[in-house]
Amino acid sequence: MRHVAARTPGFLPEGEAEALFGAALAAPEGPLLEVGSYCGRSAIWLGAAARARGSVLFTIDHHRGSEEHQPGEPYHDPSLLDPRGRFDSLPRLRATLEDSGLEENVVVVVGRSSLVAAQWATPLALAFVDGGHSREAAFADYVGWAPHVMAGGRLAIHDVFPDPADGGRPPYEVYLRALADGFEEIAAEGSLRVLRRPSPG
Ligand code: MG
Repeated sequence: MRHVAARTPGFLPEGEAEALFGAALAAPEGPLLEVGSYCGRSAIWLGAAARARGSVLFTIDHHRGSEEHQPGEPYHDPSLLDPRGRFDSLPRLRATLEDSGLEENVVVVVGRSSLVAAQWATPLALAFVDGGHSREAAFADYVGWAPHVMAGGRLAIHDVFPDPADGGRPPYEVYLRALADGFEEIAAEGSLRVLRRPSPG
């Protein structure tokens, strides 16, 4: 699993991956959900946690890439173009899940996160938000998914940079909004923040 993660393209350092894995293991019983599958680097860890818990991970992505993944942009990977020349990270995700033996524990959802969120009804033990990093996309994911985190469940946010010199603002602003909404911070590793929705009473 660890060796598959190491050769999977993505933006999750191993220390953050381990923190995410630990957060998923410590979450209440229930399904896990990730926004922003890309090639599956974090789905491996969350999927392994789901398997250990006898649960499932839903991982959502439109697989057409964010702005920075498009041809000519800084994070473009030409190996992720489909035969028609369009960006498509889905085949690589499926290979990652096959290679890590997680196909029975990870459900791939292909589509725009906000469309899926609007139809979603299942309480989540953990939601990991790592989709589009524009202000619009980041807040749409928060508004769409945070309400589905069950009492005692975890909201994990990636690319939280308190210092603007380290990275873009929207994930940090989402993190502040979540704290203002009553989520409690329980772990921080690199740019990963893990929050908990308090249980009532
Ligand atoms: Mg990220």
